[in-house]
Amino acid sequence: MIRFPLTSLLIILLNFAVPPQYLGAVDYPRMVVFTANINAALDDCGCSGSAAGGLDRIKTLVDSLRQQYSQLLLVDGGDFLSSYSQPALNHTVVDIMTRMAYDAMAVGDQELVEGTGFLDTMARRLPLRVANLKSKAGERWQQFKPPLLKNGLRLFFFTHREAFDFIPLNGLPLTDPTPQWNPAPTMPIIVVFHGSLEAARKFARTAPDVSVILVGHDQRKGVFREGRTVLVTVGTEGEAVALVRFAAGKPPQVELLPVVRTIPPDPEIRRLVEKFYQSLNGK
Ligand SMILES: [Zn+2]
Repeated sequence: MIRFPLTSLLIILLNFAVPPQYLGAVDYPRMVVFTANINAALDDCGCSGSAAGGLDRIKTLVDSLRQQYSQLLLVDGGDFLSSYSQPALNHTVVDIMTRMAYDAMAVGDQELVEGTGFLDTMARRLPLRVANLKSKAGERWQQFKPPLLKNGLRLFFFTHREAFDFIPLNGLPLTDPTPQWNPAPTMPIIVVFHGSLEAARKFARTAPDVSVILVGHDQRKGVFREGRTVLVTVGTEGEAVALVRFAAGKPPQVELLPVVRTIPPDPEIRRLVEKFYQSLNGK
């Protein structure tokens, strides 16, 4: 087991009343680990302070959490690719994230940076999701629409068109995020929202039955509230991941786990990163 400096864990206990619909017969606890805005950071981002971020250390952290919590879901909020077209780098990111075995990943604006052809290729390897794509059965976007229903949790994925101010939508038929679920008394509703924190707050006001909104694209880091809904952002370059815990009879608990340099890089991911750097040097 990896040793983390416990003092560096920012543990935020959210003390608000638990809506009765979240208290049911589903087995608890349930865990979601949330990453977002990795921005193709393969390894140490060189960021100030103790945060290293980067996929090689995130993999180590996630594996450690999986050893502790067997029911854990791993979810990304989008912008895992670079914000610039760099095909070799972005292919390496896809190779690494395939090995991390995500349960679901939002499609953000940066996932369009290499065009819709690259998006289609990624979709064959990664569990990409965005519910608010206008499509019919049989159309290629249809595969992105289903929510993630797993381990007694329901996760819905929305991407806001305002996120596409730098990278164009490229014909992606995106509609406005709209709550589209039926009440289920025993399953907390989680939304993975790609857009600004302000847009996510606005969405929360239209969907007060949502327990937690995991926000990608917005590069702030923190835990916020809108009504009874908790909103979570995790910064940038993988500087932190969020661990969200649902327990019967308790409010959701959010821990922001900093990805610090004392976490050793995962050896398998490290080899992929080194291979990428060697390919650059060989040119
Ligand atoms: Zn984005």
